[in-house]
Amino acid sequence: MASCRAKDHENEIQGFLAHQKDRTEQQAAMNPRRRSQRNAGRAQTERRHRTGGHQHRWRETTLIAKWADLEWRRRWQAKAKNRTETTWKTPWGKPIIPLYEDLTKAEATALFLLRTEVIGLNAWLASIKVPEILPRCECGWMRQTVHHVLFQCPQYQRADFIAQCASERLHEVLSNKRSAQAAAKWLI
Ligand SMILES: [Zn+2]
Repeated sequence: MASCRAKDHENEIQGFLAHQKDRTEQQAAMNPRRRSQRNAGRAQTERRHRTGGHQHRWRETTLIAKWADLEWRRRWQAKAKNRTETTWKTPWGKPIIPLYEDLTKAEATALFLLRTEVIGLNAWLASIKVPEILPRCECGWMRQTVHHVLFQCPQYQRADFIAQCASERLHEVLSNKRSAQAAAKWLI
């Protein structure tokens, strides 16, 4: 079971990376001048890092290289039994890639992070024992999870996003193309 889920997760990563690669090539084709600057720009963006624990407003797109490396895969597989994230619940064989269609790179990254809950939410940071991070949200709620931020946290306006949701179940919202993409756009 765990290895099956790990395989789903791997499929999600690969689908996501394929989407991002297509987007990069499309953007380069539309704007050839950027092609020569791309390598220099990439090194610069990789040096930008997240800081602090309240990260659902961050805008960077290049951290994905880190999520995909072997360390993350190893960690995910080790934790597979207890995970509740959307990607672990996605039924075996369900095509993931359409969820990312038509999204910009930044939006696709946001959706990927929502679905894997590796976005820098405090509950997740605390769960992997990042020093000095408590799972509590700034609003006072005990756990700052993706569900809390998307549906409950009083710090955010979300009427436009909720209007796109047919359900308040996180797994369903993030597995439906319309509401998943609305969530990604709302997040950034
Ligand atoms: Zn909150």
